[in-house]
Amino acid sequence: MTENASGILPGTVRVRVAPSPTGDPHVGTAYMALFNLAFARNVGGRFLLRIEDTDRARFREDSEQQLYDMLHWLGLQWDEGPDIGGPCEPYRQSERLETYRPFVEQLIEQGNAYRCWCTPERLTQMREAQQKAKRPTGYDRLCYGKTAEQRATLPGFSEIPVVRMLVPKDAPIRFTDLIRGEVNAPMPDDQVILKADGFPTYHLAVVVDDHLMGITHVVRGEEWISSTPKHLLLYRWLGLDEPVFAHMPLLRNTDKSKISKRKNPAARLTWFAEQGYLPQALINFLALLGYPPIITTDDEGVVTEREMMTFEEFAERFDWSKVSSAGPIFDLKKLDWLNGTYIRELDRETFIDAIIPFCVRDEVFAEAPQGADREKLAAIAELIQTRLVLLSEAPGYVRPFFTAAADLQIADDARAQLKDGAAEVLTATIAALEPVDEWTTENIESAIRAAVIDGLELKPKVAFTPIRSAVSGVRISPPLFESMEILGRDETLTRLALLRDTL
Ligand code: GLU
Repeated sequence: MTENASGILPGTVRVRVAPSPTGDPHVGTAYMALFNLAFARNVGGRFLLRIEDTDRARFREDSEQQLYDMLHWLGLQWDEGPDIGGPCEPYRQSERLETYRPFVEQLIEQGNAYRCWCTPERLTQMREAQQKAKRPTGYDRLCYGKTAEQRATLPGFSEIPVVRMLVPKDAPIRFTDLIRGEVNAPMPDDQVILKADGFPTYHLAVVVDDHLMGITHVVRGEEWISSTPKHLLLYRWLGLDEPVFAHMPLLRNTDKSKISKRKNPAARLTWFAEQGYLPQALINFLALLGYPPIITTDDEGVVTEREMMTFEEFAERFDWSKVSSAGPIFDLKKLDWLNGTYIRELDRETFIDAIIPFCVRDEVFAEAPQGADREKLAAIAELIQTRLVLLSEAPGYVRPFFTAAADLQIADDARAQLKDGAAEVLTATIAALEPVDEWTTENIESAIRAAVIDGLELKPKVAFTPIRSAVSGVRISPPLFESMEILGRDETLTRLALLRDTL
C-alpha cells in the first residue's frame, strides 16, 4: 500500500460529523460532512455520523430525520451511524449515558473533577458580580473540596450536583491544527462535564465518543477552537490518545458575519432543496468555499482553472494543505451560476423528472404527467432548460401550457404592456394563423411576421407583446412561436381571441 496525498496509509482514517438535532439542519453541517467524507474517501477511511443529542433543552424530535434526508439528498453517505449501525453502536449520545459514567467517576477519583451544587440562580448572581467588578468571569469554585453536607450550609444549594473539571492554571492552551498550524486558544473555565439531568455535556461526550469510536481526525467548525483545550485536558487526564484536529473556517455572509439560521434562510439546508438548487451544485459550491478550483496544465503549458467539480473529483484531489483557513464568503451568486450550469448539463429526462415535483408543489398539475401530457412537458422542457437558474422557476414557465384557455390569467405586468392597437395585432394574427396548413414553429413564425410586421408595419417588440400575453399570460415566457406549436392550433387561436375580446 502506498501513501496518498495526505501521507496516510489507506484504511487507517476514521472521521465523523456530529450534528446536534436542534432544528432544521444547518448548511454548516453539510459543509463539515462534505470535507470529512472527501478526506475519508481520499484515504480509504471511514466516515461516521454521530448524533449529539445531549442538550435536551434544544432537542427537536424531527430534526434527526431531516438531517438524514438532507445528507442523503446531497449524496453524503456515512459508513456508520444510528440508522445503519456499525461496530461502535449506539451512535446516538442519548443512548450512551451509561458509557460516560465511568469516565466521570475516574475523573472525580483522580481529583481532576469535582461535584458542584450551585443553583443556576447563584451562578447568575456570581457572574453578574464578576462582570460588575470587571473581573474575569468563571466559576468561583465555591463547591470545590466540600462534601454535600458542608455545601448545604451555604446559600444557593441544589440537591442534585453537576460535575465540573478542575482546570489547572497551567492548562495547555496551545495545540496544533491541521489547517491553521499552532493555535492559541483561551484558557478554559471549570467546565461542567456532567449535568444535573444525568446527561454529559458536549465536552465530555465528544472526547469519550471520539476515543471509543476510534476517530483519528476531528474535523469541525472554527467555533469549536475555544473548546479544544478542554478536550485536550480530558484526553490527558483519561490517558487517551489525542486525535488530529482540523478546524474549518466558518461560513460567512457577504458582510462577513457568521451565517445563522435566524438571520439567513440560506443557513437552512432545506431552503436549498425548496429553492430548486441541485445537490451537485450545492456540493460543488460548498467544496469551493474551502478548496481551490481544479488547475490543469496541458501539453503546451496552458493553465486552466475549472470550478465545476464533482464530489468524486474533489475527493480524489483532497489534500489538507490546500484547504483554506480564511472565512469563506457565502456568495449565492456563485451558487446560482453553478446551478444554472448543472441544470443545462442534465439529460432531458432527468431534467423533466427534476422539475415535476416543483410543478406539483405549485399545483401546475396534481401528479406527474403521463402519455401525451408527458410529451408536452418534454417539449416545454426543451424550451426552458437553458433558461432556469433554479428548478423552482419551472412552474411559472410550465403553468400556461397546463391551464385551460378560459382559466388563463393575464398577469398585471403583461396586461400593463398592452398598448393601443393590441386588438388589431391579435385580429391580424388570428387571420394569419387560420390558413396555416402544417402547424410548425417555422410556419407560425412566418405567417405572423408577414401579417403584423410587414402588414401592420410594427416593430417586433410591439407586435409580439400582445401575442405573448394572449398565449402565455406572462411578460416573460419561453420562446413564443415554439410555445404556440406546443399549444396547438385550436388552443392558440382560442387564447388569441379570448384576450382580443377583452380589449
Ligand atoms: N455537536 C457539535 C455540533 O453540533 C459537534 C462539534 C464537533 O464536531 O466536535 O456542531
